[in-house]
Amino acid sequence: MLPPPSPDVRNPIGNTLALTEDRRHVALCLGSITLRCVSPRIFVDIAIKGLMAIMNESDIQNLVKQIPDPILESPLGKLKMIQQVVLENKTVQVVVELPTPAYPQREQLKSLITDKIKTAYPEVESVEVKFNVVVRGKKSGARIGLRAKNVIAVGSGKGGVGKSTVAASLAFGLKHLGAKVGLLDADVYGPSIPHMAGVKGQPGVLEYTTSEGQTIQRIEPLDADGLKLMSIGFMIEEEQAVIWRGPMLHKILTQFVQQTEWGDLDYLIIDMPPGTGDVSLTLSQMLGLAGAVVVCTPQQVALLDAVKAISMFNQVKIPVLGMVENMSGEIFGQGGVEKRAAEMKVPFLGEIPIDATFRIKGDAGSISSLFDDDSPVRDSLLRITENIAMEIVRNLQDEPDMPQLEIL
Ligand code: ADP
Repeated sequence: MLPPPSPDVRNPIGNTLALTEDRRHVALCLGSITLRCVSPRIFVDIAIKGLMAIMNESDIQNLVKQIPDPILESPLGKLKMIQQVVLENKTVQVVVELPTPAYPQREQLKSLITDKIKTAYPEVESVEVKFNVVVRGKKSGARIGLRAKNVIAVGSGKGGVGKSTVAASLAFGLKHLGAKVGLLDADVYGPSIPHMAGVKGQPGVLEYTTSEGQTIQRIEPLDADGLKLMSIGFMIEEEQAVIWRGPMLHKILTQFVQQTEWGDLDYLIIDMPPGTGDVSLTLSQMLGLAGAVVVCTPQQVALLDAVKAISMFNQVKIPVLGMVENMSGEIFGQGGVEKRAAEMKVPFLGEIPIDATFRIKGDAGSISSLFDDDSPVRDSLLRITENIAMEIVRNLQDEPDMPQLEIL
């Protein structure tokens, strides 16, 4: 046995690689055993064999779990995003669980994991990173029988700013990325989504018999290019004006949310009537929403109304996911919403340019095609969809349970 050498180098898993005291030999310390090698070549062989014997899955797993997620900035382990790490021969396979199909940095995450493993364990020959998506959410509708993991309200301070367009785009964007989505057009004063999505008809009624022999009726939502759509527009004539008072609004919304056969959804998007507090209150009493998105155009007058919308959501305890600037460009200006969002310490979720494509697609009933490859607005809509989905994940991290509702 050699006397313990003075450590000169350490390999990544803590073995001491050192020169012996006479500095003529290289030694590898494995715990209390010190091996002396007569030549650097033999030393290298022994070192690698020693490492392979010691390197194991749980070491690699621990290493991977400490990598911070590039967007959420917390360690992957804390975020419960590492499903599996398998070491076989000299190949490592890592399975990452993404919290939403809208996770935008898959490639960056893949290289981060690969580089970290290869740097720590140079003898690993290849790293495979696979992704599984398990959408996370508050499951806040459970107590009223709604099986939607996340409910998102899209609101605005006033009409005409493109709130319905953004709500429909968000729904189709999430569907485009692979989520199961429902869209509830709760804009009872101007239900425009059936028209934009090119869906006509009346919802059917489904009947079920429970094990106790009781018959239950449910409203069957209409299909809009793969997403489930429900709107007051299906119940009234196109040109009929609707006058809703508070209690009626409450009743119809409760029915739409509770008695529609939504099935299992990852996201239910609700297009809210502009500005109103009573609809928001009804929703927040019924469900713990994942949050609200406030749509605004960049000019000063519109911004004032958006500030009121945010304060209304705050009052009814609906978390504000952030603000979207719509119709950015020469006519209404650009950047006003981002600035106001920063002042109010609310996330800015992105901007959508003013573009005739929206009107053309909306009028033609083909708003789902805004996500086609050749759509000029596709990228900005996808970015906003990703930002909203990630903001929900971020909030879940901070506050995994439903917020306590304050009865006003
Ligand atoms: P709101 O729901 O706020 O009343 P809508 O979504 O119904 O607003 O939009 C109002 C009109 O503006 C529609 O004709 C729509 O096609 C158009 N629009 C919405 N966003 C844009 C945009 N970014 N560029 C051009 N037109 C838009």
